[in-house]
Amino acid sequence: MAYDPQVVDAKVVSDNKKNGLFEIVAVLKDRNECRLFFERDPETGVGKVTDLNRLMKEPCPICRKDYLCNCLDRFKHTIAEQSMQYIK
Ligand SMILES: [Zn+2]
Repeated sequence: MAYDPQVVDAKVVSDNKKNGLFEIVAVLKDRNECRLFFERDPETGVGKVTDLNRLMKEPCPICRKDYLCNCLDRFKHTIAEQSMQYIK
């Protein structure tokens, strides 16, 4: 079954104006949370997602492990895009 992440909340948790790196914690409908790492384009100011870490509050929604896995990695663009609606 295809996983379909639904972001229900997101907030900026760190923002480094000097190097353009910032981080967002996104809350998903299935109660998982993940931290997204962004790099801001110095020309356009647009943030590009570079990494995603699942915060291990809940078992992984995909493989059900409650430790580190990379399942959500391939959804980072979807999750990042949805998170942006909750920022600013
Ligand atoms: Zn997993």
